[in-house]
Amino acid sequence: MCGPVLIAFGTQEQQSGFLPKILSIEDYWCQGYSEPGSGSDLASLKTRAEDKGDHYVVNGHKIWTTHAHNANRIFLLVRTDQNVKPQAGISFLLVDMDSPGINVKPIITLAGDHEVNEVFSMMLLCQNHAVSGLKTKVGVSPSSFSHMSEVAATHQWLSRSLTILR
Ligand SMILES: Cc1cc2nc3c(=O)[nH]c(=O)nc-3n(C[C@H](O)[C@H](O)[C@H](O)COP(=O)(O)OP(=O)(O)OC[C@H]3O[C@@H](n4cnc5c(N)ncnc54)[C@H](O)[C@@H]3O)c2cc1C
Repeated sequence: MCGPVLIAFGTQEQQSGFLPKILSIEDYWCQGYSEPGSGSDLASLKTRAEDKGDHYVVNGHKIWTTHAHNANRIFLLVRTDQNVKPQAGISFLLVDMDSPGINVKPIITLAGDHEVNEVFSMMLLCQNHAVSGLKTKVGVSPSSFSHMSEVAATHQWLSRSLTILR
């Protein structure tokens, strides 16, 4: 899911820094969208990220994060502007899982499996180690929802293509 976003909206640096490592499976990304109280309606998400110039400070709580305990990176949807309608002001952040402040708590399913997790980011300093050593942000506020729509469309296209290939 992160790859198509980077292809469509990432900078040259983000594309050359992250895409090859997705292909080589050197990087394992997990998806930090859902929150307690924010599932289907992502416009209600509450995790906040404050732009500090060379980094973000992220405060929030994600849930159902598949394989967060295996992943070395997470792409997060976070609220970066409180003063706009709920469907705007959301950014797509690329975060290293070993960033200070990030905390993964397992959710054990009724079947006894450990697949999903809660991810807490209290005062997480979100830095990008792969490109400029500073911050990485894709999909700035005003158009973030249209970005997400395009991601969904790309997914549908990929699913259709894979079905045809099969
Ligand atoms: C095994 C598993 C793995 C997951 N992995 C991840 C992950 O890696 N990262 C991540 O971010 N999330 C993940 N999720 C979360 C998942 O993708 C959904 O976001 C989440 O399950 C939906 O939110 P919710 O449970 O709060 O349900 P709600 O959003 O509260 O929905 C509850 C019910 O109401 C229905 N509903 C909601 N809105 C409407 C509406 N407007 N009209 C009619 N019906 C409606 C829904 O269809 C559903 O049946 C995972 C979930 C599961 C079960």
